Amino acid sequence: MPGLPDAPAQGAADPDRGWLDALFLGPYGENDALLEKLMVEFLRDHVYWRRNFHPEDPPAIPTHAARHPGYQAFESRLRRELHQLSAALKRSVPFHSPRYIGHMASDLLLPGLAAQILTLPYNPNNVSEDAAPVTIDLEVQAGLQLARMLGYPDDTSRPDCAFGHLTSGGTVANYQALRLALALKAFPVALRAGGVPDIDVPGDDWTAFNLGPDAGIALLERANAWLAAQPPREQRRWVRTVAAQRIEQLGMVDFFARHPALKVPKVLAPITAHYSWSKGLKLLGLGRGQLELLPERGMRLDADALEDALARCERERQPVLMAVAVLGTTEYGTVDPVDAVVDARDRWTRRGLGFSVHVDGAWGGYLATLFRNPDGSLRALEDVREGFARFPLPEVHAAFAALGRTDSVTVDPHKLGYLPYGAGAFICRDHRAVALLAESADYVFQDARDADYHARYRQLGQFVPEGSKSGAIAAAVYVTHKVLPLDHANFGRLPRQTVLAAEAFHAGGERLGAALQGVAHVTVPFAPDSNLVCLAINPAGNADLAVANAFVRRLHDELRADPRQPLQVKQFFGSMTTLRPEAVGDAEMHRILASIGIDPATLDSDGDDSDRLVILRHTLMNPYLLDHANGISYIDQYIDHLGRRIRALLAASPEPA
Ligand SMILES: *Cc1c(COP(=O)(O)O)cnc(C)c1O
Repeated sequence: MPGLPDAPAQGAADPDRGWLDALFLGPYGENDALLEKLMVEFLRDHVYWRRNFHPEDPPAIPTHAARHPGYQAFESRLRRELHQLSAALKRSVPFHSPRYIGHMASDLLLPGLAAQILTLPYNPNNVSEDAAPVTIDLEVQAGLQLARMLGYPDDTSRPDCAFGHLTSGGTVANYQALRLALALKAFPVALRAGGVPDIDVPGDDWTAFNLGPDAGIALLERANAWLAAQPPREQRRWVRTVAAQRIEQLGMVDFFARHPALKVPKVLAPITAHYSWSKGLKLLGLGRGQLELLPERGMRLDADALEDALARCERERQPVLMAVAVLGTTEYGTVDPVDAVVDARDRWTRRGLGFSVHVDGAWGGYLATLFRNPDGSLRALEDVREGFARFPLPEVHAAFAALGRTDSVTVDPHKLGYLPYGAGAFICRDHRAVALLAESADYVFQDARDADYHARYRQLGQFVPEGSKSGAIAAAVYVTHKVLPLDHANFGRLPRQTVLAAEAFHAGGERLGAALQGVAHVTVPFAPDSNLVCLAINPAGNADLAVANAFVRRLHDELRADPRQPLQVKQFFGSMTTLRPEAVGDAEMHRILASIGIDPATLDSDGDDSDRLVILRHTLMNPYLLDHANGISYIDQYIDHLGRRIRALLAASPEPA
């Protein structure tokens, strides 16, 4: 079969198969018996737990209650509504199917699904240990598991150990990154304003505001040590004095009014950044105007443009809060040069313009498992590359290798972690700064070396944006990472399948281009960095961008979920995105347009649908795209389907040339 890398004749011949077969419920519900067995077993287990709490208590609901007409009426109403819900849900998007290669969703890992369902009836609330004696530790452990995957220190006896927690998703994790970076940046200014003596506080506001994260944490440590040496009365007085000067107390307006040498800091992010960054800046009160979007070069953040922006900021005495690198962009799956961004931070911090580096790995975070050995060490490029056609490019390897030097990372377990929604994660390299997020001063000023790491984070609600939060999802993330440790030999086998699928898709796209010669131009507009592959399409003979866009939109209409039609009408699901010259750069844009025979002169920045190129986008995360057991490649089937639909659409209404 074309597109099937080393496909064995029989499923059993592939050592990976048995392992992969047990991970999910399966496209056909193949593992229903396993999931059902687990559900029944642990529901019974939960019931026994209730019965054994105080077995001397008589049942509150009498044994004959089910015979009461009121009970029966309620039960029929309940059943009726549940049946209606269950019927309506049949119109859901079939994320589980290998025919679904649209958005960032797929089947759910059984360990996580089972752990979450198992935990739900206990209903733990991970706001604090009082409401979640078990699952709050699991959440902190899950944070450490992710830290290890990223190359952050995960030994809690180290004072600079990493810390991570779950959020509702990547959006809130990115927000937490902004909050933490701002707290750390502004704290030295508050120490100065509070007049804390003897701890080598910078002599002016500009220097204090631009220390950079490591020096900021070192100063916080010195402040804690100094405070611990004061008599209790003095301690309380100093805590109040400094707290009154903090940006969290004063708010933006008052803080910057008191420090006229300082401007509201900027966030530098690539133009491909997710819109959660704009939301985050609005929410924090920095304002969307402080988000400066940097251009891309070759589909990645342009490190030279970052350098220029930083030089301009230095000239204009414009502080920078954070530089963001994206690890797997939402639209194209491309990987920014994280290594160049951390190098820039180190260089500019030495020059007195300190800032944090955050990696938005909501999509690509779990790809880091491919780069990690079971002992936690980093894998060499040639080892990672084994078995792939082209992944990872040296620059992609360098980006992943640099993750351990960043200040914080967002990862979405509910994307490439194959877990139910409600699971994003924020992880920071050095947990000591997290104290600055606490609501209560008791946590802010506490010598981190003396405090027990786990005991501290059992008051999770002190540090996270949310209040009440699901303990069940924490159990799901933790158990998944225990069953499938986050290294290449375990969890990594999943992203491996997705990258292999992307490479097969890339080859399939090129085959389609050759097969449709004279009918339509089909190209893979840029080689994928990871597991998202796009296709650019233009009817043969057409040179007008707007005409090509209209054609791809019609094609996409056939590939998207339509709530008014039965699901089965659709053969496949894909998604759509656009390429804009502002985002990818003029040179790249012209190259791509030329590759499908479009005249770049028809690109019109004021045009209705001609200021950008519409392309098909495919997320190849379903683990069963290359079905070895049946010798089926859903990718080949999709490519063939697309070819037929392109021919049919052109035959139905020939495009004007
Ligand atoms: C999905 C995504 C987000 C937002 O995450 P949610 O879980 O949807 O809140 C942020 N950044 C990137 C790169 C993403 O792919």
